[in-house]
Amino acid sequence: MKVSEMLIPTLRETPAEAEIASHKLLLRAGFIRKTAAGIYTYLPLGMRVLKKIMNIIREEMDRQGAQEMLMPIMQPAELWHESGRWHVYGPELMRFKDRHNRDFCLGPTHEEIITALVRNEIKSYKQLPQLLYHIGNKYRDERRPRFGLMRGREFIMKDLYSFDRDEEGLDKSYQKMYEAYTNVFKRCGLTFRPVEADSGAIGGSTTHEFMVLADSGEATILFCDSCNYAANVEKVSVPAAGADPAGEKLEIKEVKTPGAHTVEQVSEFLGVEPHQIIKTLIYKTDKEVVAALVRGDREINEVKLYNALDCLRLDLADAKTVEEVSGAPVGFAGPVNLKDIRIIADPEVAQMVNAVTGANKADTHYINVNPGRDFKINIVEDIRMVTAGEKCPNCEGRLKEAKGIEVGQIFKLGTKYSKALKATFLDEDGKEKPIVMGCYGIGVGRTMAASVEQNHDEDGIIWPVSIAPYHVIVVPISTKDEQQVRIAEDIYKQLLDKGIEAVLDDRKERPGVKFKDADLIGYPVRVVIGKNAVENNTVEIYKRSTKETVNVSIEEVINTVQQLLFPQV
Ligand code: ATP
Ligand code: MG
Repeated sequence: MKVSEMLIPTLRETPAEAEIASHKLLLRAGFIRKTAAGIYTYLPLGMRVLKKIMNIIREEMDRQGAQEMLMPIMQPAELWHESGRWHVYGPELMRFKDRHNRDFCLGPTHEEIITALVRNEIKSYKQLPQLLYHIGNKYRDERRPRFGLMRGREFIMKDLYSFDRDEEGLDKSYQKMYEAYTNVFKRCGLTFRPVEADSGAIGGSTTHEFMVLADSGEATILFCDSCNYAANVEKVSVPAAGADPAGEKLEIKEVKTPGAHTVEQVSEFLGVEPHQIIKTLIYKTDKEVVAALVRGDREINEVKLYNALDCLRLDLADAKTVEEVSGAPVGFAGPVNLKDIRIIADPEVAQMVNAVTGANKADTHYINVNPGRDFKINIVEDIRMVTAGEKCPNCEGRLKEAKGIEVGQIFKLGTKYSKALKATFLDEDGKEKPIVMGCYGIGVGRTMAASVEQNHDEDGIIWPVSIAPYHVIVVPISTKDEQQVRIAEDIYKQLLDKGIEAVLDDRKERPGVKFKDADLIGYPVRVVIGKNAVENNTVEIYKRSTKETVNVSIEEVINTVQQLLFPQV
């Protein structure tokens, strides 16, 4: 196309709302526009990138024998009641009623829809296995939609579901998807790492997240410096604890700590180290209020806590609840004399001697608190975050930290949904069994944003050729010079004839403006036709990723561009 006829609204200034590079650049280069918080329109350039990513995904899914379908976004509540998730999903699920007052939601994921479909259509082991997927909009009313396409409330996902006779079949399907995901992200030009993860609210057991390594990532990964262990920090378990520390248990004492409620304030006020303090956090689940205890220098891992409490929902308790169970304002809760609630403590806490805790009274703490003697622990369980520098759970190595963007996740679901929705099949032995399922998601828009996070410089985006909106921009320096324009048009047409995706910047703008836009948009190759083309038959070819230029004769242009774009050809 000719740039003068295209909608590419580039911006000189960075919009104030954009914090990270991909968000800034996708707005500035005219790929996306915001419609509402977490809701975006893909402009023509954005749509081209999106389609390329979707095609790579399709090719890799189909290569593994998967079949594409299209499922509805609008989903009836009944199916969500059957799976039990209508009440589990919480405020992220966008719910609404139709004119007959029937409940619906906008699908955040499609386990319910596809399991209900499969229970009607699949009856026999002869129809298994199946790998079924679709690419479509998903809706999640995220607490903090941000970073543009990274965390939207409406976003595009590829979700695939596998259906097998048994665990062995599931293992094979999972392996196929692991391979397909690896190929997709490689072909999108991303530097990524599959990591072990927690299966969270979706249920199931084994799961991997595909993390694009980038400082702006919202996820933290810990990986071992000597073995190949890598996991989401939420999942990393604590290496086995050492022996009980010895020490004489002193008499518990109340001390005044005016104005000191954080661990730092208390540790400074009392002159103790943070690891001698017990941090007490009050949580509310769908069943109970509980106190969770970790050492003062540790952070609670809410994913582990959620799993340990066997609940459907888990939230930090509000101030009123904290005051009710502790009898004190927020900041002074402690495990001694707490009102009839269960106490869950990290193993490190269970071993502490003469610790400091809140005293359930304003401006007061206890010193010389001894678990077991001064309060009872109901559950001892690993509920803390592991941090970089600690020992690897698999070997003697040390853990290192990196930030990641989760672009995809694969899960072994097992029979959670097939049992709930009664999706069964008749096996060869004549027995009725629940279908064994897996689910596999890729965030398409997030993958696009992640690519920009990894591939940009101070001038703009540097698209990998595989997902660039166009391969080449042809720029005549002077649109007033008829000969330059003629040569440029000729090269542009030849490129199109060769199947190379080219645009012609025929705008009556200064060359500087055109070059700035081209760098911002990130065309992999730029062909510049100036005076030299007319006078010396020479054209300049510029490679966006290295910013190198070569001068070649007009006859050599097509060949050189092809070599730059597809070096193996
Ligand atoms: P996150 O932990 O980032 O909220 P998730 O684990 O809830 O994501 P999944 O249910 O695993 O997400 O969805 C599959 C994929 O969909 C994710 O790996 C991610 O690429 C994408 N995705 C999830 N939520 C969003 C969102 N709000 N905006 C854009 N993409 C998303
Ligand atoms: Mg996920």
